[in-house]
Amino acid sequence: MTTEHLGAIPIIRVAVDPGLVDDYGPEIHWALRLWFSTAGWAWAEVAPREPADLAYGVDRACFPGARLFVQARPDLWARRAELSFRRARSGDGPPCVIYDGEPEPGRVDAGPEHIVCPHDLVFDTFFVATGQMERGLPRGKHGFYDLSDYSEYRRIVLADGLVSDISRWIEKTLTELGCPSPAPRWPAGRRAALALSHDVDYPEMIRWIEPARILRRQGLAGWRPAAEVALGRHHHWHFASWMHLEQAQGARSAFYFVARQGSLFEYATGTPDTFYDIGSPAFRKLFGELRQAGFEIGLHASYRAFASPEQFAAEIGHLEAVSGGKVVGNRHHYWHMNPSDPEATLKLHETLGLDYDSSLIHNRYVGWRRGIAHPYFPFVQAERREIGTLQVPATWMDNQLFGLRGDNPGDPWELLKAVVDRAVALGGCVVVDIHDYVFDRVLFPGWAELYERLIALVAARSDFWIATPAEVAEHWRERMRKISAASQGLALGVAQRVAR
Ligand SMILES: [Zn+2]
Repeated sequence: MTTEHLGAIPIIRVAVDPGLVDDYGPEIHWALRLWFSTAGWAWAEVAPREPADLAYGVDRACFPGARLFVQARPDLWARRAELSFRRARSGDGPPCVIYDGEPEPGRVDAGPEHIVCPHDLVFDTFFVATGQMERGLPRGKHGFYDLSDYSEYRRIVLADGLVSDISRWIEKTLTELGCPSPAPRWPAGRRAALALSHDVDYPEMIRWIEPARILRRQGLAGWRPAAEVALGRHHHWHFASWMHLEQAQGARSAFYFVARQGSLFEYATGTPDTFYDIGSPAFRKLFGELRQAGFEIGLHASYRAFASPEQFAAEIGHLEAVSGGKVVGNRHHYWHMNPSDPEATLKLHETLGLDYDSSLIHNRYVGWRRGIAHPYFPFVQAERREIGTLQVPATWMDNQLFGLRGDNPGDPWELLKAVVDRAVALGGCVVVDIHDYVFDRVLFPGWAELYERLIALVAARSDFWIATPAEVAEHWRERMRKISAASQGLALGVAQRVAR
């Protein structure tokens, strides 16, 4: 990795088939910008016959000066709504998708100064990163996807981070062909990032309903904790405990608060919002303590906030007012974006001026939902453009390795270690979500321990940057601004929205 300061961004020359641009320009440009900006390259668009580091087209003969030629498949672009992911290529060559009914992939043709990639990696990137497969996947309560029958998809997209993996192959291939090393991804030469966060769902225990919930969770073994809760010997107010646990490892986190107070009646009738009031004196005092210690305060948008821009905006405003500072990030309670059109909710984040959101994950499964192990600016298909709110995708939610253990088989600790190793291999970012109320080691045995063990593992390494999600977003936005400023072409006018 280069030691150059971000101020000098190396530039890649790129050529794109004009016929493809006529039909799929915004989509193709977005995928290419995603590759280059993830790697740390600026770009300069050149005409097909000029020397180029990377060319994307139908006929290689039109790009005689290309070092890496990526074969376009306009037929895949035309059929993208019907295609189904069958499996991914393994072994030599670039990671790529094989679709149902499509032939086995051909071999990469490599010469000393050029490489021809026969797979349409631009299309694969678009297909996975915009969640084309999700249209056909079964959904359950709260819109959660059921991927029981899609183990290959889970392995290749969620666990391996296919889009980041393709991006990595492009980076490695271009570098081997003599392109300059890209600018670093993370501060101080770190190879990956860890961002810690807490969804604040249940900080004030309702004592009369809790014993039954404990028995349901722990079975008969839970009789003693249930009795202790009934006697008032436990609480859920664990903010200081989380802060101490993290500070002991040199870390800080974000706490996402729900700014709309729900009720048991609403909970029972399909709007499971939280019961606490962020305007109460206890929360106001807490906000001061969190800000003072450098922890982030973010919004946990209420269950139906996605359906009302006014409600969503009011929640941001209320949290900013009572917490005495700016709120730049959000995560939806129950990951509840518009279930039939998540992109409409991503667009709403931009309208409301959020710097970042961290809601794209599959509730039941550990991993990167869209195969992207990095922050990125999502593409909104209805408007054929990139939006200006960064997505910082969540990687692991606590319950996936406890209540939802059956969906994530294997030893939980080994699984988390694999996530950390994969993030390093991809130069990516692990975003962790631990609920506020699970700190109690009697009521939630093993939960806080697993979290603490993960932070200790990462803190002991020298190659991770540990930061709050807002710090990760701020770093990535600044990096993107510099890359955009050094770039030319690939419909950059759209990408420059990030410089707002
Ligand atoms: Zn929540």
